[in-house]
Formats: sequence, C-alpha cells, structure tokens
Amino acid sequence: MHNYYVVTLFPELIEPYLAHLPFKRALEKNLIQVRLVNLRDFAIDKRGTVDSPPYGSGPGMILRPEPLYNAVQSVAKGLTNNPRIIFLTPRGKTFNQQIAQEIAKAENMILICGRYEGFDQRVVEELQAEELSIGKYVLSGGEAAATVVLECSIRLIPGAIDNAKALVNESFNTANVEHPQYARPQTWRGRSVPKILTEGHHKKIASWKLSAKAWVE
Ligand code: SAM
Repeated sequence: MHNYYVVTLFPELIEPYLAHLPFKRALEKNLIQVRLVNLRDFAIDKRGTVDSPPYGSGPGMILRPEPLYNAVQSVAKGLTNNPRIIFLTPRGKTFNQQIAQEIAKAENMILICGRYEGFDQRVVEELQAEELSIGKYVLSGGEAAATVVLECSIRLIPGAIDNAKALVNESFNTANVEHPQYARPQTWRGRSVPKILTEGHHKKIASWKLSAKAWVE
C-alpha cells in the first residue's frame, strides 16, 4: 500500500480526480491511499489565518511556516516509515518520468501545495523536504501540480492500470517518445494511415514503430 497525502487549502480541486482512472482503480484495489489534508485546519487563529505579507516587502501573501509544519507533522507522526516530503514550487527540480517511477515505489509521500506568492522557505529546510516543479511556468496554486505528480506516478504502480502492456513502450519509458498512432477510418479527409500498418506484417510493423519514435533531449 502506498500512502499519499496532499496538504492543500483547496482539497475540492483535487477530489474529483480520485473518482477517475488511474486513481479510482488503484483505490478500489487498495494499492494506494490518498488523503487530502486541509491546511486551514492548521491555521494559527480562529479566523483561519495561514498566511502573512512577505518580509522585505513585495506583492501578495506568503503561506506561514507554522500551519505547513503542523499539517505535515500531523500526518508524519502516524507513519511507521519516514515519508518523502515534497513542496510544489516553480523553483523546484523539474518533475519527469524518472521521478514518477521513484514515487511509484515510495511507501509514504506528502505533497504540499503552495498558494498566493508561495510559502515560507524555512519550513522546507526544517522538514528537510524536496522541491518539485512541473515545468517552467507559473500556476496559481500547487493543486494542479500535485495532481500531475500523483497521476503520473500512480499509473506506474503494478495493477493500477488494466493494460500493463501499455506502459512498456510508452513515451519517456526509455529516452524517446512513442511512435504516432492511428485509429479507424483508414482514410480520413484524404489522409491515409501509413500503408505498412495495414498489411499485417508484424516484423515490419515493429521496425516501423521503432523507426518512427522521436528522440527527445
Ligand atoms: N511567487 C512564485 C514565483 O514567482 O515563483 C509563484 C507562486 S504561485 C502563484 C503559487 C503556488 O503555485 C506555488 O507556491 C506552487 O505551490 C504552485 N505552483 C505554481 N507554478 C508551479 C509549477 N510550475 N510547479 C509546481 N508548483 C507550482
């Protein structure tokens, strides 16, 4: 069982994904547990404060360290083995398929979603956490990023998707991307499927598929 926790101010943004593949199947088969932890429950006062203006001036608000730390600690104290703790942030290491493969093997993981202008850096240091980005662009919050990280990783857990064969030649499983794919009809708007794919010669098709893979950096 893989235990995934997401600390967020907006659990309702992630919740709908849990009802769909690959989450749905992995949850049904008890391969994973996903718990959404509402950061507001760890606010510093009854008004629900979790943020403050930044030191050194600047626009917007920053998530304070205490609610983030307490939310992570509340999860971590119930775990037998140390969790992988990851803050989602544009300044983090860029997420890729290799990291997804590692996460698919992690027993416990806590993802933390930032909001507003981000989070206090001291909490990252105090928790000895990692920082992960899903790309060189800026979202309004970490929820979409956490969902990307979870979805990519969970589908790699054995049993989480019905057709495990689909994973073997998939893009980024090796250093290349998958060959182009074609569906019915054979000719559409004057464009025909590559002839070799229609002739049933398995060896030739396999070699076409290999040659049609594009190499990525
Ligand atoms: N002020 C920050 C900056 O310039 O880098 C941007 C903060 S962003 C508006 C708010 C939150 O969204 C971040 O703390 C982070 O959790 C999340 N976020 C935004 N872009 C992201 C990305 N590319 N990868 C991961 N998380 C991201």
